[in-house]
Amino acid sequence: MENKKEMRKWLDDLGLDHPLVIAGPCSAETEEQVLKIAHSLKDTDVNYFRSGIWKPRTRPGNFEGVGALGLKWLQKVKEETGMKTATEVANRNHVELALEHDIDLLWIGARSTVSPFIVQEIADALQGTDKIVLVKNPVNPDLSLWLGGIERLYTADIKNLGVIHRGFSTYEKTKYRNNPNWQLAIELQSKFPDLPIINDPSHIAGKRDLVFDISQEALDLNFDGLMIETHHDPDNAWSDAAQQVTPERLVQIMKDLTIRKETDPEAEYNKKLGNLRAQIDMIDNDLIEMLGKRMKVSDGIGELKKQKNVAVLQTNRWNAILGKMILEGEGHGLSEEFVLKMFKAIHQESINHQEKIING
Ligand code: PEP
Ligand code: MN
Repeated sequence: MENKKEMRKWLDDLGLDHPLVIAGPCSAETEEQVLKIAHSLKDTDVNYFRSGIWKPRTRPGNFEGVGALGLKWLQKVKEETGMKTATEVANRNHVELALEHDIDLLWIGARSTVSPFIVQEIADALQGTDKIVLVKNPVNPDLSLWLGGIERLYTADIKNLGVIHRGFSTYEKTKYRNNPNWQLAIELQSKFPDLPIINDPSHIAGKRDLVFDISQEALDLNFDGLMIETHHDPDNAWSDAAQQVTPERLVQIMKDLTIRKETDPEAEYNKKLGNLRAQIDMIDNDLIEMLGKRMKVSDGIGELKKQKNVAVLQTNRWNAILGKMILEGEGHGLSEEFVLKMFKAIHQESINHQEKIING
């Protein structure tokens, strides 16, 4: 599939002077809850009111959504507040019900995007629709699978399209619930510059403190909008309690975010520079995180050496590491001088750590 300008017409037609905002609770819980949140988001920057009706839960036994009943509540939201509505669909039946209830924007969830069968079923059920359909990234960091979802929809004559970047699962615990792997989103943007890309900082973060920073990073990387889970009483939400923000906080976040103006004559330059700098910042963070991890492993070695009363410095092992890394560095365009300096510094820090353990 090639980049297609028509995919972003729906977004351009909105003529927004701020990023697109999709907000609302993770799940519709009660009619009262849905309407309460919707009314407090009315007259803010929010363009689409989101609410999960069918909730894909990782393990059974949790709240799985109120089902079709919730679609009536979303209709009420539209009547009472004028906000457009959005929900997740995960099969043909969901699609039919959502269309029947005139939901304006449908999204395919991360757990559905991994399954071409399900995406195809949804595409077939939506054939030719003029509703907006957004595809969340699959839970695994696979760009082809993500784009495959868009291709299936486009082939089904669905032209109002976009993607939602919600991060990727990792086995290792990190500070994120779902690792952003921004590189993937950047690659998608450079392949399909006209495909609207919305960031979902809530599911990347997993906790509300991180939502602002992730949103800012997304705007720095030229994302078209944000989907932020919002609940009037986040701590007591029936799903994703830790990551939802209050409507008041959402308004503050939108106020505090720095939004780059397209009319800036330097915009193109700034965009490119911002994009590259954001990449550098992420890589630097990764470097520090990896070095911290390396020191922890080294501490473990220190403990072992202490038990066995072995010397901290093992010259053979150290020379072997250096030789290997110099070769490795060459393959990545790094000079021998630099690799030596860097590894000596790392090694020294590691020795300091182990000394402390052995003598402390
Ligand atoms: C959601 O948006 O509430 C949701 C379930 O998201 P995801 O598919 O990204 O996990
Ligand atoms: Mn959620």
